[in-house]
Amino acid sequence: MMLPPKIAIASGNKGKINEINNLFRGLSIQLLSQLDLDISEAEEPHYTFMENALSKARHVSKNSGLPALADDSGICVYALNGQPGVRSARFAGNGATDTQNSQHLVDLMRHQTDRRAYFYCVLILVRHHNDPAPLVTDGRWYGELLREFRGDEGFGYDPVFLDPKMQLTGSEMSTNQKNELSHRGEAVRKMKRLLESGAF
Ligand code: IMP
Repeated sequence: MMLPPKIAIASGNKGKINEINNLFRGLSIQLLSQLDLDISEAEEPHYTFMENALSKARHVSKNSGLPALADDSGICVYALNGQPGVRSARFAGNGATDTQNSQHLVDLMRHQTDRRAYFYCVLILVRHHNDPAPLVTDGRWYGELLREFRGDEGFGYDPVFLDPKMQLTGSEMSTNQKNELSHRGEAVRKMKRLLESGAF
């Protein structure tokens, strides 16, 4: 199996980096984060997760000289036509905290009866910055939005997102429990399988 010895993770988000690190355990690949490498954040100007992930991966690969793995993710709410979507990290304004973004969503949804939402994650791994055939995987986590915050773990919209089968929010789960169910868990497992099958 051909595996790259090192991959740069195109993210500065500690929550995501921790989850990706946990999920990649067992593959002998050293993961270096954008923070370790001191590389600036790429612009995320696009309408789709896919396009944003591709620009982030290219940017970090170009600046590090390493293969780069980008995650673009967010929450899509049915009653809001898929919003906040790619704007999830800045839904309550540029520089907004996770709590402010989640509160903004709770406020917007106050009178909504359709509570359905899903987290989406796409992972794109480029071998080099002009890779013509990057490895792409994705995952979805379907659930419901709560009217109040529950739990202390996780990040982002986890405290207001309920998994209907477990009846727990993302913030009431351990990292392992969340990885088994989550959009990112699914996308990373698929990426691991691609790497294990020699796709790199
Ligand atoms: P990105 O860095 O542009 O991909 O922003 C992703 C944003 O989506 C995060 O800042 C969170 O607000 C939200 N998000 C993505 N994945 C999760 C998750 O697993 N739990 C909670 N929020 C998430």
